[in-house]
Amino acid sequence: MVELAYLAAGVLFIVGLKGLTSPKTARRGIRIAALGMFLAIVVVVVNLLGLDASYAWGVVVGGVVVGGSIGAFLAIRVRMTEMPQLVAAFNGFGGGASALVAAATVVGANAVLPAETAIVTALSLGIGTVTLTGSFVAFGKLQGLISGRQVFLPGGAATNGVIALAIVVAAGVGVVAESSTAYWVAFGLAAILGVTAVLPIGGADMPVVISLLNSLSGIAAAMAGFIINNQALIVGGALVGAAGMILTIEMAVAMNRSIASILFTQFGGGATAEDIGTKPVNRATADDVAIALAYAESVMIVPGYGLAVAQAQHAVKDLANALEERGIKVTYAIHPVAGRMPGHMNVLLAESDVSYDLLLDLEQANPRFSQTDVVLIVGANDVVNPSAKNDPTSPIYGMPILNVDDAKTTIVIKRSLSPGFAGIDNPLFYEDSTLMYFADAKKALEDALVAINLL
Ligand code: NDP
Repeated sequence: MVELAYLAAGVLFIVGLKGLTSPKTARRGIRIAALGMFLAIVVVVVNLLGLDASYAWGVVVGGVVVGGSIGAFLAIRVRMTEMPQLVAAFNGFGGGASALVAAATVVGANAVLPAETAIVTALSLGIGTVTLTGSFVAFGKLQGLISGRQVFLPGGAATNGVIALAIVVAAGVGVVAESSTAYWVAFGLAAILGVTAVLPIGGADMPVVISLLNSLSGIAAAMAGFIINNQALIVGGALVGAAGMILTIEMAVAMNRSIASILFTQFGGGATAEDIGTKPVNRATADDVAIALAYAESVMIVPGYGLAVAQAQHAVKDLANALEERGIKVTYAIHPVAGRMPGHMNVLLAESDVSYDLLLDLEQANPRFSQTDVVLIVGANDVVNPSAKNDPTSPIYGMPILNVDDAKTTIVIKRSLSPGFAGIDNPLFYEDSTLMYFADAKKALEDALVAINLL
């Protein structure tokens, strides 16, 4: 019965994951997967009760109640803009939980384990711990607690290579010599590697790293599933590991980078903070923006992280409706790493009922900019930075961007000339065809709508 229930949970995870492949079925997919997880938890608890009635029930029930309450509280309270940090923290906790299972196994058996258990224990300990510390560095970067820019470490990538090798050696000694000390050395080194591997990764590469950490948390969980012989954990972990790895590869391709080059090369250059905002720009008012938009035939909207911060998804839809009523063709160009998590902009625009047919991805949007009258950039910065094409010293050089500078007029809504996540200046802001409309995105769009309605 237990095995059958785990199988059912695994099937529910897979059906749920399939649902996530389209925005239309995503909510149902999440509910189905949550049902699978609920089933798996109930079975674990009931199974434990059957095996050993004297089990420490207070701890089990207490864990479910405390953990469940924190999860529910966070899910209800978290703002959309904080979602990526939450995901990073969840990855970290997932990796940490797997590492704890492995650590408990080492302690319980005093490192004397059958070979196959010893190997998965070492893997779960190593991968889980790297995921734990790496994810919390990513959390710190996304939360602004640690600089989002690149941090250069002594020895660069070679240092990480040496630490990684030392982990493999220590874990190998732990397995072969049945030495607890060697396991703990591997654990300590893995904790250091998580920090030293993620800390140097700069701005635009963060999405790939977060999705890689997500995948690693799944792989560590699958290893923990082997240790405690839990089918649901093996299936769930393998699904997260595989789905996360596919996403990692897709994101890396979208950024025109290889995963190895993200993890093992360090770029230099880029503008310093002092360079930013010292050159003249064309400032625009709500009236200027209204005139440019109302007399255009085609408008392409480019949303970015600022749209999420300002929660301007409804305001942008209202403005688009007004333009469409005037017979203007409105579309949206979505960069794969716009915002702070994969699909961030799609989620926001779906919230305000923007039709999926109007969303263009990078490949669809780029050839159309030259035929577009006005591009309206709402809180985007790095994803429209021409330095990625023109400046080989830029940290984002080589990343495909939305070629908004091909359009006749570009309007940028943001509050100041502050840089985006990558921490670099954007030459687009100083171009003749660019109008800078400095304001909070929601307020700016609302004011522009009022001005359009007065025309
Ligand atoms: P950016 O981070 O480049 O820029 C966002 C801009 O929004 C800022 O320059 C800011 O300027 C502006 N802004 C902030 N708040 C507001 C507001 N209330 N109203 C108007 N504007 C506002 O965003 P992009 O979306 O262009 O690029 C995403 C970046 O994040 C990329 O570097 C990407 O690699 C990185 N990243 C993406 C992840 C993903 O999975 N998508 C994950 C982690 C990182 P100002 O302060 O002047 O208003």
